[in-house]
Amino acid sequence: MVSMKILEDTGTSIKVELSDIDRSYANAIRRFCISEVPSMAIDDVVILENSSVLYDEILASRLGLIPIKTDLNRYVLPEKCDCKSELGCSKCRVLFVLDATAKDRVTTVFSGDLVSEDKETRPVSETIPIVKLAKGQSIKLEAYAKLGRGKEHAKWQPCTVSVLTDGKQEGTYILKVESVGSMPARTIVSKAIEILEEKLLEMKSGIGEKQE
Ligand SMILES: [Zn+2]
Repeated sequence: MVSMKILEDTGTSIKVELSDIDRSYANAIRRFCISEVPSMAIDDVVILENSSVLYDEILASRLGLIPIKTDLNRYVLPEKCDCKSELGCSKCRVLFVLDATAKDRVTTVFSGDLVSEDKETRPVSETIPIVKLAKGQSIKLEAYAKLGRGKEHAKWQPCTVSVLTDGKQEGTYILKVESVGSMPARTIVSKAIEILEEKLLEMKSGIGEKQE
């Protein structure tokens, strides 16, 4: 029987010992932590005003890279949402508004200036600089965050580190995962295992259907 032992858990980083498991499965869990576990990131940006030095596209891509607190029980992937709408709904996207003007001096706009419609879904840190505005410059925009996977774009990767090393005893492996802060490292690992299980079940039912 596969067994797991948590060796270390600081919240954002976790070290788990896996035993009685094939290396390829352990490696699949490692890979799924990076590429399959969804997290929130800003994807669509509607720029209403931008007199800063940054081009609209660069501003949008900078916003996409801000890690966002993600509650996987509250939101679903847009492709799995019942709304089937390109605009999305309250279950598959979160609206952020940014409205900043440098009135009388140079002003730095930070991630904390993004106002979210859902206070639980907000930037992991409030001090990530987005753009510097010179006196008189301003930006006004609406940004939509949604769940996505690391395999689509690196901005959706929930972890910065996911490595597998050999354990002390034969047949044991150590999985180390460090979260970007959008969710606990423990959640990333358990979600990766859940997704692996789902995929194996899908395969199993696929084979079952063919036999009939
Ligand atoms: Zn929806």
